[in-house]
Amino acid sequence: MKQYETVIGLEVHVELATRTKIFCGCRTEFGAAPNTHVCPVCAGFPGSLPILNKKVVDFALRAGLALNCRIEKRCRFDRKNYFYPDNPQNYQISQLYLPICRDGFVEIETEGRTKRIGIHEIHMEEDAGKLIHDEWSGNSLVDYNRSGVPLIEIVSEPDMRSAGEVLAYLEKLQSVMRYLGVSDCRLQEGSMRADVNLSVREAGSERLGVRTEMKNLNSFKAIAHAIEGERERQIDLLSQGRPVIQETRRWDDNKESSYAMRSKEDARDYRYFPDPDLPSVYISDEWIERAKREQPELREEKAKRYESEYGLSAYDAGLLTADPALARMFEETVSCSTAAKKAANWLTGETMRLLKEKEQEPSSLVFSAAHLAELIALVDASEISQKTAKEVFAVMFETDVDPKQYVKEHGLSMETDKELLDTVIRQVLSDNPKAVEELKSGKEKVLGFLTGQVMRAMKGKADAAGIKERIRNLCS
Ligand code: ADP
Ligand code: MG
Ligand code: ZN
Repeated sequence: MKQYETVIGLEVHVELATRTKIFCGCRTEFGAAPNTHVCPVCAGFPGSLPILNKKVVDFALRAGLALNCRIEKRCRFDRKNYFYPDNPQNYQISQLYLPICRDGFVEIETEGRTKRIGIHEIHMEEDAGKLIHDEWSGNSLVDYNRSGVPLIEIVSEPDMRSAGEVLAYLEKLQSVMRYLGVSDCRLQEGSMRADVNLSVREAGSERLGVRTEMKNLNSFKAIAHAIEGERERQIDLLSQGRPVIQETRRWDDNKESSYAMRSKEDARDYRYFPDPDLPSVYISDEWIERAKREQPELREEKAKRYESEYGLSAYDAGLLTADPALARMFEETVSCSTAAKKAANWLTGETMRLLKEKEQEPSSLVFSAAHLAELIALVDASEISQKTAKEVFAVMFETDVDPKQYVKEHGLSMETDKELLDTVIRQVLSDNPKAVEELKSGKEKVLGFLTGQVMRAMKGKADAAGIKERIRNLCS
């Protein structure tokens, strides 16, 4: 059996989080009623003219710098001509000849190794509308709200060799874009979309094999499956002596197989030419310098700082910085004079558990850092038990209640009835005379048993350490 190597290059579209579209003033927000964010420009009316949104250039520039690209001082837009119902102008404004960024790289970590993935270029373009095929009525409908939403396309070099590397690369892009505030990069909502170009070649060969391109991948799971499926399909063909045909394929994650969509088109097919409605874009040195100066601390740097500044483990620092919203929550909680380790525990523990359970992203967290700090302070002061704290936190997670007030209103404080606690302790001691004798004769082990009995009677609303001390006092 011959050995084959998989070669993968990615074209990743990222929707930019600008308030308005790339060439008009229409809003970009996701989820509005169909065709409510449209105007003559983004609906392709004849005679309308595009005006470039400066924020798009700024975001593309910042993304390029963070991905170690060279910023071209002059770039330009080109028309990519094709007919499709979601494309009302019959061309898409994109960049072919003079993209804004070139020759960058990112570093990814897989299996404990650092690897560099080259970025061939980044260009700016406009998104198309969205077709909705109603299988029930047999009609197709079109929503132009997305038409003209700004995108950057990040084109990698064919440097990846496995699904693992591809996922690490995509996670890296997500992290960088989110830290920059350039995009929320949600695969499900389509604010990040990856086309996977894949070929195989005999191990040791330097020449690239014929590739296919797979579209319609909207989860990491689908991407991993599609890579495995396509790799096997190509190896099967080659080992039977049959050729791989260069084409675009659509992966169907339900059927776990792909089918040919169209034979691969060439740049020539699109009759690209410079858009005569848009002048060249010139980027000044000052603009680039400002973007460099303003670049926020990214994940790796932040994680290192968490280790050195707060004494967190590399593991905790990694979890906390995976998403900027979580990192922000951590820093804000610590700034409310909470011990870093405790803040980290709540965020990597209960918070991440609930996020996962409810399939939410850290950016959708509703509780405030001040309230988390307050909750931790209540535990520290032995006002509530750890168990109660978790219950209160679950409520905070849903509605951001004030923990202090909530504890008071629901009578959850351990301090509410000192007398009751004392009565319960005395009751437990008189119910267990044998254990009390043993404790008096120095058998420390029964202390835990007696404390447990008290905790049970108090339904967990008591401070175990305090109970132990009280029992000791009473039995000495
Ligand atoms: P096109 O313009 O036709 O889409 P490009 O040359 O721009 O083609 O490449 C698109 C993507 O495909 C890039 O990410 C590139 O790294 C990747 N790619 C190109 N050739 C191969 C190949 N033989 N195997 C795997 N990936 C490839
Ligand atoms: Mg392409
Ligand atoms: Zn518009």
